[in-house]
Amino acid sequence: MRAAHEAVAYVGLGSNLDGPVDQVRRALEALARLPLTSVTARSSLYGSAPIGPQDQPDFVNAVAAVTTRLSPLALLDQLQALEQRHRRVRQRHWGPRTLDLDLLCYADLHLSTSRLTLPHPEMPHRRFVIEPLAEIAPSLTLAGASLTAWRKHLCDQTLHRLAP
Ligand code: ADP
Ligand code: MG
Repeated sequence: MRAAHEAVAYVGLGSNLDGPVDQVRRALEALARLPLTSVTARSSLYGSAPIGPQDQPDFVNAVAAVTTRLSPLALLDQLQALEQRHRRVRQRHWGPRTLDLDLLCYADLHLSTSRLTLPHPEMPHRRFVIEPLAEIAPSLTLAGASLTAWRKHLCDQTLHRLAP
């Protein structure tokens, strides 16, 4: 489905299986090839400790900014198809995955449907989202607060910059 206007959206990427750095790099390249969509910025790659079950490898994370004429649901469809192309198998909640693509926000849209919640409800609580997002969109605000303000609550979560 095509949106009337071009919208700015942010996509969070994560992987902790089958060569996570390569998975994320390939996914960033694939995002740039999505229909009606351009990648305008991408963060460095970061390493983070898993949330939820601890008996799994660390994650590699990044965030991309895109402009798109796809509607929010059409963009989610494309992101989920891309996850499938990376042979993602959903096993347990918050378990290991070859590729996780979350639609973090889409313009200033607020949405709550069975398939799509916007902004992504977990994003303010995840340092591996807020730090890369602050790198590429420092003036973005979430629920009326700056990313710097959100960041202050997240210092206890392990995160390090892995690669440009
Ligand atoms: P998680 O990312 O929380 O580990 P999944 O990637 O398995 O979990 O996603 C579970 C479901 O979340 C998907 O089937 C999708 O429809 C739904 N979902 C709701 N809002 C969003 C969003 N903003 N971005 C991505 N998926 C979302
Ligand atoms: Mg997801």
